[in-house]
Amino acid sequence: MKKFPFEDSPNTACFTCCHVLNENKPILYVSHDEDGYWQFLCGGQHTESDARIVSLADILEIDTSIADLAQLDYGKYAEAVDAMSDWVVRIKKNM
Ligand SMILES: [Zn+2]
Repeated sequence: MKKFPFEDSPNTACFTCCHVLNENKPILYVSHDEDGYWQFLCGGQHTESDARIVSLADILEIDTSIADLAQLDYGKYAEAVDAMSDWVVRIKKNM
């Protein structure tokens, strides 16, 4: 079995959206929030009702490429233009 790439345990709850989960949209936005939460969203606009909670193991099964972002630091996020593009890591601006 491959080593789980995240430091968090596989059953850690994280956020995704209904588009990724139900419509097979690619994950184009990955955020590691300062409070430790991971978000894995499609590139669209979201409201609270679009949010879904899954485990890190679930999301890795949906898109194995996010293993590349397992080391993403707190307060950083990564964006990709489309599923074929490389991730671009950015630092969140403080509000
Ligand atoms: Zn979405």
